Amino acid sequence: MPYTDDGNNRLASYQPDLTLNPEDYISYIGKEGVDSLKRLAEPLEGKSWANINSTLDGGGVAEILRGALPLARSLGVDARWCVMEGNDAFFQVTKKYHNLLQGIEQPISLEEIFNTYLDTIELNAQHTHISSDMIVVHDPQPLGLLTKGVLFGNILWRCHIDTSTPSQVVWRFILPYVNQCTGAIFTMPSFVGPGLQIPVYEISPCIDPRAVKNRQYAESEARDVLSVLFKESKVDPDRPILAAISRYDIHKNQSTILKAFQKLQAEKRYDPQPYLIFVGNTVADDPEGSDMLDQLRDEAGDDPNVRIWVNVEDNDRVIGALMRVARGFVHVSTREGFGLVVAEALWQGTPVIGSRVGGIVKQVIDGETGYLVDPLDVDTIASRMARLLDDPEEAEALGARAREHIRKNYLLPDLVRRYLMLLRYYTGVDREPPPFRMNGKAYSETIDMIRARHAGLDDLGITK
Ligand code: UDP
Repeated sequence: MPYTDDGNNRLASYQPDLTLNPEDYISYIGKEGVDSLKRLAEPLEGKSWANINSTLDGGGVAEILRGALPLARSLGVDARWCVMEGNDAFFQVTKKYHNLLQGIEQPISLEEIFNTYLDTIELNAQHTHISSDMIVVHDPQPLGLLTKGVLFGNILWRCHIDTSTPSQVVWRFILPYVNQCTGAIFTMPSFVGPGLQIPVYEISPCIDPRAVKNRQYAESEARDVLSVLFKESKVDPDRPILAAISRYDIHKNQSTILKAFQKLQAEKRYDPQPYLIFVGNTVADDPEGSDMLDQLRDEAGDDPNVRIWVNVEDNDRVIGALMRVARGFVHVSTREGFGLVVAEALWQGTPVIGSRVGGIVKQVIDGETGYLVDPLDVDTIASRMARLLDDPEEAEALGARAREHIRKNYLLPDLVRRYLMLLRYYTGVDREPPPFRMNGKAYSETIDMIRARHAGLDDLGITK
């Protein structure tokens, strides 16, 4: 079934780069990797895969789609991206959904849940008509479209949030929509919320090795990229660096990283002294972000070895280069869906001190690719920082394994491979569900099976 646009569809549609060649990935996954993707895609020529989310720019979902869709298209799949519209009030409510679904208590009114959210859904539904072999609806924002009769095909809900302990109010509100989908996709089994009656699949976010940020720099090149910034901020490039990069946000827990660094400095005199460099972005309409930043600046005081950078120029190159030259990367969030920064740092060959939280545990293997710590355990974080600083050889060995771990498991072609397998399953190319299916036969499938048997059809709906 092709993606159809009957002229009534006014969701913004992103046209992916059509010049990509699957061979462009050979240097990352080898010829065999690219050939196996092509074999998977062969029977999918012309089949359609639509994606719906709520933003074209910013955030992990947009970052992933920007890489995944061109690759899928270069393999012959008609991959599309539609972006729904919403006003500030809508996004404030869906940000609350996001927090509450991650188990963070926050007041929300019934007015917000029903009126603000559903009014926007209604407006979008008036302009939407999407028919596709597979439609992936990302996160809660577009979920309400499910009951509007404007999406036609196998609809999968992709939840990028850690919904292992969701607020009951919001979870109960979205559950009936989710259960109308053909299936749902989560980052890991522990994120699957209660009460799902549909097939559930596991797909992790991934990083695109072809993105500017993830270019693997030679050390000298990385130092060149950073030279101006280092000069401006009076950073001596010969001293070791611990880096921490993320939004300034309470859950990113930058304050604990700082405390651990202060402890490290109080306990041991290094020569040369290491730096702790924070890099982060704030968004103008996020007052929490600037409060966190002010607080961190206060706590750091005039420590000559701490730098706090905000919204750096030439962001992507600077981030990749800083991750590359750092002795260690520290990311001890108290909540985390996946933590793309962790994958990015490991990919640059830098070991990560990461918290045992959310998707970080898939990436940081304790003693193999970095160290796992409890997010508020200042003493252990400080001791792991010391270990990376005291033993550069160990840091390098961890970093080499880290890069390999990401190469094998968290590069974009692996994500595309999983979506292709879903598309094969839902278009009847494969009879067996893909191996990353997390549950057995779901309620909806059992009902379908019983109905089909009664109608004298086999499991694929073909008359016997
Ligand atoms: N990031 C960036 N500049 C910054 C801070 C973060 O480009 O100053 C990027 C980072 O490299 C990553 C993304 O923002 O690609 C953050 O994704 P992650 O999953 O780590 O956290 P989120 O912000 O989605 O909670």
